[in-house]
Amino acid sequence: MNGITNRAGAIQAAVNTPPRKAAIDATEIFKGDLYGRNVFDLAKLRRHLPKDVCKELEKTIETGSRLDVSIADEVASAMKNWAIEKGATHFAHVFFPLTGLTAEKHDSFLAPASGGGAAIADFSGKSLIQGEPDASSFPSGGIRATFEARGYTAWDVTSPAYIYEGPNGNTLCIPTAFVSWTGEALDKKTPLLRSMQTLDKQARRVLKLFGHKNIPMVTATAGPEQEYFLIDQNLFFLRPDLYINDRTLFGAPPARGQEFEDHYFGAIPERVLAFMMEVDNECYKLGIPIKTRHNEVAPSQFEIAPTFESANLATDHNQMVASILKRVARKHGMIAILNEKPFQGVNGSGKHVNFSLGNKDQGNLLDPGDTPHENAQFLVFCAAVIRAVSIHSRFLRAVVATASNDHRLGANEAPPAIISIFLGEQLNSIFEQIKAGGAKSSARKGTLRVGVDTLPSLAKDTGDRNRTSPFAFTGNRFEFRAVGSGQSIAGPLVALNTIVADSLEYIAEKIEALQAKGSKLNEAIQIVLKEIITAHGKVIFNGDGYSEEWRKEAARRGLPNLKTSVEALPALLDKVSAEVFVKHGVFSMRELESRHEIYTDVYVKTVKSELNSALEIAKTFIVPAVNRQLAEFGRTLAAQKAAGAKGASTVASVRKVSALLESLQGNISKLETLRKTFPEKIGAQARHALKIRNQQNKLRADVDALEMEVADDFWPLPTYGELLFIK
Ligand code: ADP
Ligand code: MG
Repeated sequence: MNGITNRAGAIQAAVNTPPRKAAIDATEIFKGDLYGRNVFDLAKLRRHLPKDVCKELEKTIETGSRLDVSIADEVASAMKNWAIEKGATHFAHVFFPLTGLTAEKHDSFLAPASGGGAAIADFSGKSLIQGEPDASSFPSGGIRATFEARGYTAWDVTSPAYIYEGPNGNTLCIPTAFVSWTGEALDKKTPLLRSMQTLDKQARRVLKLFGHKNIPMVTATAGPEQEYFLIDQNLFFLRPDLYINDRTLFGAPPARGQEFEDHYFGAIPERVLAFMMEVDNECYKLGIPIKTRHNEVAPSQFEIAPTFESANLATDHNQMVASILKRVARKHGMIAILNEKPFQGVNGSGKHVNFSLGNKDQGNLLDPGDTPHENAQFLVFCAAVIRAVSIHSRFLRAVVATASNDHRLGANEAPPAIISIFLGEQLNSIFEQIKAGGAKSSARKGTLRVGVDTLPSLAKDTGDRNRTSPFAFTGNRFEFRAVGSGQSIAGPLVALNTIVADSLEYIAEKIEALQAKGSKLNEAIQIVLKEIITAHGKVIFNGDGYSEEWRKEAARRGLPNLKTSVEALPALLDKVSAEVFVKHGVFSMRELESRHEIYTDVYVKTVKSELNSALEIAKTFIVPAVNRQLAEFGRTLAAQKAAGAKGASTVASVRKVSALLESLQGNISKLETLRKTFPEKIGAQARHALKIRNQQNKLRADVDALEMEVADDFWPLPTYGELLFIK
């Protein structure tokens, strides 16, 4: 079969797929109980549990402490009754292994009754609190020897249980942490919970210095803006690179790319809108507060973002959103691609992680506030973030280092691999004033003035803010934009929580020491802020992050520019950062080493599988198509000669295509050699993988050039134009 027959069929099928009408009643969102219907939330707990048990559990949830075993049985039984009423037949401990995916093992509620027939099995407090999945095939990076292969899962009470509606039945899902029997974290949730505790502790210590009493728990908050591509499945499944690797390995640029920038915020195509509405609806049922949906910059690229939540809940919810996007897309005949770089030459996908911290009484601690007192407090928290990002910029680069995110960071696209902070003009000038000595301390008693009397109200989040910065202040939060669309946000949040906590501790200690020597609070704050901004102001950059000048300037400032994962991942073991994570009990050294090993291994495996795909496609799709083209040229030339023409242009085409084919064959054999010569040690493997990537770029260049020379009806792969513009 020639290429066009396949492609034409897929195109027909794609354009003939109507928007899917799902059975959604939009009025239920406000009038009914749709929102959170499938979540065993506090309201349902109250309905299903005796008052005292409920109080106890609420306390546990609020403080994130361990669940009292004595009430676990009652909670479990209430949860089971609710779930069975909702049609659940199974329960599952859901956990988040270091692969970045979601794992679950389902257990049935069913038990054979003694006299025959089915009975409802006992669901004890113990099976709610703790599970023992056979976890030996999850990567542990050497933490777990095979003889002690089992880990256990433990319910995270701060993340409510929920019902997953399957096509043929429902499952009660219990979000859990996953640890080894020796207590080491085998997952992404455990360190996140640890880091949130640390941040709470240090933030409250600082708040105490400001005279607050009975300070409620401080929580890290996160709001991830999730970007993704939607591609028609008929076209998607004609591309092995897409369905195997989730990204294209070949493809000449389409005649039209994103240069018109007309896709961003453009009208949403009906078929896509139908999809988005169903996604929102699924999310609402699970209590995921989806807020925005819109087109993104690249053709066929979109974004979904929730209202922010506690970092832990936001992480679980983002993981759920990813699986909902994929599941619902299939129902609409499309594939949701969460990979960071599915298409070369158009924007990749990121996940802007909006980050802040706050509590019930003091509110958002990164919100400037209306009084000088609040402003001083804000500046202290802000300075803590600046110091943290400056000291641990290599570590922050490492937590977003994946094989596919490398195509965004460090390539010619937002944001750059150099980690810097955008503060905006006003806040920047305030810190500049503080650095220059600031205003004198307050004359009036009882007020705090730092640098300036009051802050001007800082512009919040408008369109004109800097979009090239990997880490930007956006009015009342920081936005970590270097995070990849396909990765769990747990890692970046663990890093931010811990390094900010450490900076807060540093600040608290300094201020306490100065106060002990007789300084007033506002004097002490001025001294500390000035010191921090002097030492760490180098990380602040408000200009164009894409520019060549910035690369040079950053080098002058001594800021690291770790272009690839191979350079970045070793920073997980940097002494300056490792010490902080160990000190705050977020990671042990062994846990850090295991993460370094696993993420490096995943990088290598990704490169390997992309190489396998690329070689297979080049040899079995591209070369045969080119040969067909050459044979066609031969026939043409013969006809031309027979008619007495010279056929000079045909000869030129034959030469050009043959030369590309030669080069292609040469690159194939170089890659085959590289594939055979993988070294043993993981570090060497990573460097070898990088070599493969560079070589594979050359192969791709040949294939993409050939795509422009070979007749369209011989070309076997759907083109970028078809993938990106036909739906
Ligand atoms: P934009 O595209 O302008 O950055 P979006 O509305 O798409 O804005 O996303 C902003 C995200 O930031 C939302 O998820 C929002 O809830 C979140 N956010 C707002 N305030 C905070 C905060 N205090 N802490 C964490 N995230 C926040
Ligand atoms: Mg944003």
